[in-house]
This record gives sequence, C-alpha cells and structure tokens, in this order.
Amino acid sequence: MKRTHHCNELRLGQIGQTVTLAGWVHSRRDLGGLIFIDIRDREGRTQTVFDPSALDGELFSRAASLRSECVVSVTGKVRARPDGTANTKIATGEVEIAVTSLDVLNMADVLPFPVDDPEVTKSVNEELRLQYRYLDLRRPEMARNLRVRSKVATAARVYFDEEGFLEVETPTLFKSTPEGAREFLVPSRNNVGKFYALPQSPQQFKQILMVGGVEKYFQLARCYRDEDLRADRQPEFTQIDLEMSFIEREDIYVLIEGLLKRVWKTALNIDIPTPFTRISFADALNRFGIDKPDTRYGLELVDFTEEFRASTFKVFSGAIASGGVVKALNAKGLAGATQGQIETMTEYAKSFGAKGLAYIKVEKGEWKSPIVKFFTEAEKSALTQKLKIEEGDLILFAADQWLNACEILGKIRIYCADLLKSQGKLDIPANTFNFLWVVDFPLLSFDKEQNRWYSSHHPFTAPVAEDIPFLTSDPRKVRGQHYDIVVNGVELGGGSIRIHQPAVQKLVFEQVLQIPPEMVQARFGYMLDAFRYGAPPHGGIALGFDRLIAILCGTPSIRDVIAFPKTAKGTDLMTDSPASVEPKQLRDLHLELKVAKKE
Ligand code: ASP
Repeated sequence: MKRTHHCNELRLGQIGQTVTLAGWVHSRRDLGGLIFIDIRDREGRTQTVFDPSALDGELFSRAASLRSECVVSVTGKVRARPDGTANTKIATGEVEIAVTSLDVLNMADVLPFPVDDPEVTKSVNEELRLQYRYLDLRRPEMARNLRVRSKVATAARVYFDEEGFLEVETPTLFKSTPEGAREFLVPSRNNVGKFYALPQSPQQFKQILMVGGVEKYFQLARCYRDEDLRADRQPEFTQIDLEMSFIEREDIYVLIEGLLKRVWKTALNIDIPTPFTRISFADALNRFGIDKPDTRYGLELVDFTEEFRASTFKVFSGAIASGGVVKALNAKGLAGATQGQIETMTEYAKSFGAKGLAYIKVEKGEWKSPIVKFFTEAEKSALTQKLKIEEGDLILFAADQWLNACEILGKIRIYCADLLKSQGKLDIPANTFNFLWVVDFPLLSFDKEQNRWYSSHHPFTAPVAEDIPFLTSDPRKVRGQHYDIVVNGVELGGGSIRIHQPAVQKLVFEQVLQIPPEMVQARFGYMLDAFRYGAPPHGGIALGFDRLIAILCGTPSIRDVIAFPKTAKGTDLMTDSPASVEPKQLRDLHLELKVAKKE
C-alpha cells in the first residue's frame, strides 16, 4: 500500500517510472471506452487512466464501480498526456498514470455535498459543512487554511524560541474570577459543591510565572468565554499569549512587530514595513470614530464644535452647551444614497441614543437638507473648506457627547466605505495591510448604569506612573499602560504593562473598582500575596490566533480556520454537543437540574 509519491508530485521528468499513489477519487470521467480518475490527496491531484484493452476485466469493472471519495491505491506507469490534452490548471497536468493495478481501500457513500467543486461548495449551507466537517476539511481551500495555521504556529514558536521565551502550559481547570466575560464552570466531583472555571485567558498564571522568575513566557493558549455569541466569536479560541519581565511598552512593540513580520513573510511572502504607526486612543476616536480604525481609506471625521458653538441651529449649539461636540464626515460621492441607506445610518445614530441623523446631500450645485436654512455663511464656508465639499458628496453629522458623537460617525464611516466599495468608488487592494498600535487608553471607563468605574482593559493593567495620584481623586484622568495592535480595522490583540506593587493592585481592586475586600481576598488574594514576595515589573500581550489566521487566509469567518468550530449558538453539529448527561453523572457531581429535561 505504500505510496511512492504524493498526488502533486509527478511531472514530465518522471515519465516511464512505475509509481504508486493513494488517495480519494476526486472525479471520474468515462470517455471513449477509457475511464479517467483523478486521485486526490492533501497535496493535490493526478490523473490516472484505466484502459480496458490493457487490463483484465475484473480490475476494469472495479474501476467502473468507483464513485467520488472512494479511497484507492493505484500503481501504474507515468506517461505524457497526449498532445493538446494537458491541464494547465493543475501542477501535474502534463502527465497521467496508465494504471496496472488498483486497490480499493474503502468505498464511499454518496456524499451530502460535493467536495471537488469550489463553486458548488460556496453555496452549501454552512450547517451541513459543520455536520460533515471531515468532508469539508477535504476541500482544498480548507486544507490550505489548516496548513497556513500550522505553518504560522511553527513560525511563532521558532521566533519566540529565538527570542529566549519558554513555552509553558497553564491550567485549563482554573477558578472562577468573574471580572470580565462570563465563564464556563466545571463542577468538582471530589470537592462537593465546589467549581473550577475554564480560564478566559492565562492572564493570572502568566503574571505568576513572572513572579516565579520565568522572565519570558509564551503559549498558544486555549481560552474559554461563555459569552452570548456574536457572529464571529467562538466559545473556545486560541491566543498567542506572552509575558515578559523587566520591560517597558516599547519592548513589546518591537517584539510583536518582529513576530508579525515573520508571520507575514511565512504565510504570504510579504515584507511588512516596521515600526508600525502609533495612534492615541483619543486620536483614533477623533479621526475614525473607533479604537480599531481601518486606515486603508480616509473618510475622516472633522470637528466643528467651535464653528457651531453659537449657532442658531439649536440641535448643534445645544449639544455643545451641554458639554458635547459637533462632528461631521464627508462620504465623498455618496449623494445618491437611497432613503433605505439613510435610514440604516439613522438607526446607527439612534442605537447610540441620538434622536436622529442630520445630513446634507450635495446635488446639482445645491445643498439639499432641511437644516441648511439655519446655517450662516460663515458656518457654510467652514463646512465647505474643512470637509472639502464638492458636487455629489454626502455630509453626515453627529452632535452629542464626545465619545457618542465619535462612535456614531465611526459606524457610519464603515457603512459608507462598504457602500462606496460596492459601487466601485473606493478601491482597497487585497494585500494592503495597515498595522497600527493604538496607545494611551484611559485606564478606566465609567459604567453609567452601575454607577462605577471598570477597567478598560483588565484590572491588572498599570496606570501611567505619574497618573497614580489621580486613581482615587480623578479616575477619568488616569492613562493606562495598555496597547492594542490593529490591522485593517481588526483588533489583532492587546496587552499592557501590569501593576506589580501589591499596594497599587489592592487600591485598584478595592477603592477604584469597588470590589469588597473579602471578595478581593477570595478571588485575588493569592496574587496579592505573590506580589509581596518580590514581583518583577512585567507586561505582556495576547493576539487572537484564529483571527490572525483568518486575515492571512483572506476569509471573513474564523470558523474557516478552526478545524472543529462551534456554531453561533455554541453547538458542535458533528458530535451533537452540548448534550444531556445521565442522572448518575449528575448525582456523582451532587447536582440537580431545575429545568425540565426535554426528551
Ligand atoms: N489576557 C489579555 C486578554 O486576553 C491579554 C493581555 O493583557 O496580555 O485580552
């Protein structure tokens, strides 16, 4: 059964050799008495020919009984395809194998969907692909994605090894520390009434590793978050996770730029320029309305707060009087936006609590908008100048508190860019990658509903040293030593320099985040203890590995780069999980279900 070659290996140079290939029947064509079978393995495919005049009848009829995806091994002689019949689309297209023997290793039932035709598979329902994932994985596109994933994982490991990092595994059975996302709980049979939790990330363990003197840690770490699933989130996912001692933010920037340079070269053979541009959180919001801006196109937000402070248009001047701002965006060439499109944008504004959306369409030399009559000449000329208004433009406004105004226009900016792209008015070449460090985040954000501060990143993030005195007096002022790495509008990862002084960490938990001291002790006591025994200054970052691979593979869905992903509802359609368990299993765990079991 042993193969002499894989199915993407034979060329004109091997003509005359007797070879054995093994793989799946990719396609079968019966032509002029001959049977042509393309055999496919992970590497590619090769055409084989069964000629009844050269084979015994039994072998030929076995070949005739084969259907797609049967598993076979064939032996035969390599020969050139007859003139004019070479297939230039595949690497083995100039040769074929004249079969002398055939082993049918396994038959295949008729498939629920074809795997040999990328065009057809595009229209196959994703649930069917997930249910028969083993068939889906045979598709060359999926095989390529897994290969890229493996290559990038190896490149990352080699890189970190060269940089002196140790790969350390951290526990999957952790403890509940419900500060961020919701956790998965695991009941402990041996410790009645107690639970483990699956880690949302190895954050606390990696910090403890620094206290343990490891100095440079990394891991391709599995993380678990029991979130309400958004379209492109998975309840379990992988991070490239790392932590270093005795460093500053700059060290992380250099390290990650080196990693991504290596990864882009490995996966795409592209040399990405470093160092990456840096932008502050405030600038990102001011200019792009989002903290992970796609800078491959302009459509930047422009501030008009000063121009409209005394305006007779009360919607604008009123917003400013109550501490807000007026911002606008010129969606160049979108004056033809339909009523439906304007409504979609208005809904975005309303989802942030705005009453409506003010806009101007510039058509036939005229500013078409009910609000224009309130504007003075000076206001109009400020708009024209700063937004470079021309015929065919669409101007959109937000008048609100700063963050809201930015975020409203940020969403609208992305929507307009998509519209312009679909109309062929905005061109973004496929392999432009705009990397960006977003820095100078506020350490804390305010939750109006709960009337308390929460960590913008996580509670272990260090404040900028000179801002520490403001932690209790004016939390809004405190900048965090946190950074995000963004590419083309996608957040690839984030991290921070950590608090390593137990007193500061305790203050953040108890006085800033208002976690009761006994709860701090129960959840984080071990960490505060560890910090009292000589904790080095340290910091780190984690990159979303699935998202990274999806970007490299040019697919919008992370499910396409995970071998066995879950659906948006968190289910595994192949194994039918999650599933109910036997009453005995629950008894062993001292658990009782309150929900009626659906049969
Ligand atoms: N643990 C963090 C996260 O999962 C990353 C970090 O701060 O290193 O987002």
